[in-house]
Amino acid sequence: MKTFYADEQKSHDPKMFLSSGAAQPNPEVPERIERLLAGAIAAGSEIVRPRNHGLRPIAAVHTPEYLEFLEGIFLRWQRIEGASPEVIPNIHPLARGGRYPASAVGQAGYHMADTACPISADTWNSACWSAWSAVEAADAVLAGDRAAYALCRPPGHHAFADVAGGFCFLNNSAIAAQHLLKDGKRVAILDVDLHHGNGTQGIFYGRADVLTVSLHADPVRFYPFFWGHADERGEGLGLGYNHNLPLPRKTGDTGFLEALTAAAKRISAYAPDVLVVALGLDAFEGDPFGGLSVSTPGFARIAAAIADLGLPTVIVQEGGYLCDELSDNLTSFLGGFANAGR
Ligand SMILES: [Zn+2]
Repeated sequence: MKTFYADEQKSHDPKMFLSSGAAQPNPEVPERIERLLAGAIAAGSEIVRPRNHGLRPIAAVHTPEYLEFLEGIFLRWQRIEGASPEVIPNIHPLARGGRYPASAVGQAGYHMADTACPISADTWNSACWSAWSAVEAADAVLAGDRAAYALCRPPGHHAFADVAGGFCFLNNSAIAAQHLLKDGKRVAILDVDLHHGNGTQGIFYGRADVLTVSLHADPVRFYPFFWGHADERGEGLGLGYNHNLPLPRKTGDTGFLEALTAAAKRISAYAPDVLVVALGLDAFEGDPFGGLSVSTPGFARIAAAIADLGLPTVIVQEGGYLCDELSDNLTSFLGGFANAGR
């Protein structure tokens, strides 16, 4: 299985975020890339640089005003006297129906859900290359590869069509799915990250042309709090095409695999041509976020269960933070996928 990744994805280097109100070092660091690359190489994967796919596949998911904001906000922010070195919002609209603000501070609040997605000089470029890695992996699967891995960083699944959040700017999994749709494919997205894929859900919530299924720590007391509950099933044409499986905190391999079996049934019933897996490795028992308790061998079992669906699969990296086992967890997943059914 090929790994798609570009060095430009390293240059985004966020410094801080607020956790329970306290300023903390941002855990979505460039070093994640080194660890994930090592894990992919250990699994026997060949590293391939994606092409520049331009804005078209990104604009198929995100709004024009949001993309203009992401591209230009850092320079505009620097002109504000006394502004922070990174773009971080301090005010948000209570509802999204209000007026679109003209000011940089107002737009930051409009387009950024929280303080975990600081924007600096290189953020836009890194986010574009991360999205292009996902597009290139989708292209590899369209060209006949059984599976492809996009080492997407920054990650994407908390990004809505016009809102960044939770370390995410461009929704790489959604961009890959939309790119596959353009080719006439029927697509399902399975999100196994520790956190609910709220941005992905939001993008497809009113649509029946992409099935979205997410396994995650129960948001009743966990990020992203406002989304990810079992009764969120989609709306309008999309009703019945969104499926959430919230798990109790500290759920381990057995409980995770049970939920995955239910998710797999739902995906099989939808009968997609291609599956996009939003692969968070932060469900790991030793991840700094500490929400679930999947083991390193557990990731191979999860991958095997996904591979058993027998679908061409685009694997898109989401979360998974620095810990000694981060590389091994990716090796376990990619190896588990490759070995399944052999
Ligand atoms: Zn996560």
